[in-house]
Amino acid sequence: MRRPAWNPVAEAASFRSNAETLTASPTEMISEDEARMQVVQTVVALPSRQVPLSQALDYFAAQDYFARLPLPPFDNSAMDGYAVIASSCKKHGRLRVIGEQPAGPDRKLRVSEGEALRIFTGAPIPQGADAIVMQEDVTPEGTDVSVDVNVESGEFLRQRGCDLAAGQMILTRGERIRAATMALLASQGFADVMVGGQPTAAVISTGDELVKSGEDLQPGQIYDSNSVLLSALLRQCGVSDISVEHSRDDRQSLHGAIKRGMKSHILIISGGVSVGEHDLVKDALLELEAKIEIWRVAVKPGKPFLFGQFESEGADSAGETPTAPIGKMPLLRQCFVFGLPGNPVSAFVTFLQFVRPAILRMMGATNLDLRQVPAKLAAGLTNDGDRPHYIRGRLEDGEFTPVGRQESHALFGLSQANGLLRLAVGQSLKANEIVDVQMWD
Ligand code: AMP
Ligand code: MG
Repeated sequence: MRRPAWNPVAEAASFRSNAETLTASPTEMISEDEARMQVVQTVVALPSRQVPLSQALDYFAAQDYFARLPLPPFDNSAMDGYAVIASSCKKHGRLRVIGEQPAGPDRKLRVSEGEALRIFTGAPIPQGADAIVMQEDVTPEGTDVSVDVNVESGEFLRQRGCDLAAGQMILTRGERIRAATMALLASQGFADVMVGGQPTAAVISTGDELVKSGEDLQPGQIYDSNSVLLSALLRQCGVSDISVEHSRDDRQSLHGAIKRGMKSHILIISGGVSVGEHDLVKDALLELEAKIEIWRVAVKPGKPFLFGQFESEGADSAGETPTAPIGKMPLLRQCFVFGLPGNPVSAFVTFLQFVRPAILRMMGATNLDLRQVPAKLAAGLTNDGDRPHYIRGRLEDGEFTPVGRQESHALFGLSQANGLLRLAVGQSLKANEIVDVQMWD
């Protein structure tokens, strides 16, 4: 039995037997758009769950939410001052102070002509009053106050429902829950919220040349920066349960790491996905019965991108709502695998273009795109290559300037950049043209 949310594209692909996959695994390079569409259509939104509101930050709403209460819920004072009847106030006229209404329980007091009630910000408006005079605009005179200004009806009074009407939609399914969204839900008395699933992720960085930062480097070795990069990018997507390990470029080491990693919803393997003799990831995945859906995408940087999946019986690795009742039929556990190029900039770009939308979809997000910002291009650019090219650059004060070496190993330039500009094949852009820049921070 398949998961109920299993989609037709993946369904069709899953009927291929593994033997068939091994021999007829896709080796055709596909377009970037095709790759993104296939990835997004293949991954499955994880079951939604209820979490305490305080833990909902950066998750995606799993249902629409509507206001239970108007906001403000009752007429109240916008200032510390005096509640009055505007028509009974004259500039320099005196009013008798008849009591006090702080913020808190409504004392159900009434103001009449010639009277004022001491009131504080957020306190309910007493009956009869239709305006508040701020305390700075009165002069106390014994038990009276003299009003120093003209008063208009409605002044400094916050009307029930002026901000939000009961029944109004306050949060749409698939929308990210931000700090202010949480505050709004709290203001409506919601203690819990239904959010999309929380995928677990495993990162494997492959390469005999890699050394963990903090350790000594031998000649020919480099520090592993991709596992740090990919973990941080995962965290930015809202994934917090992340395991990281290193694999040598040998079959046994890779098999062990992949078998452990496939227990997560998402497995990201960095390096070893290209065509060299030491690029063993694709074969290791096939040997472990992964279905490879995509291998190689026409994008620069990032051509050796791989996408596949494992499907095995067993409880969902995150312990979430099972796909079938326990004891009745086997449960399916799915792991989506992404093989990213080892070059750091390629790993970064392919993560943003293919992995990020997949994760967001698994988490129940509606908007899978990076934020796009219009900018003036600082220098002319041409793509005379045969793949769309993502230029790394810095967007500042409305101007986008390519930074650093536009090469896939050039991590320093990437660290100075904050946006990507996509140049289609054959596209030529002139300095000062207005372009759309994809922002990631
Ligand atoms: P590969 O994709 O394995 O052929 O690696 C391509 C390039 O990326 C090589 O120069 C690797 O040394 C480098 N590389 C691979 N993995 C990492 C990593 N985890 N951190 C930094 N550089 C890496
Ligand atoms: Mg390698």
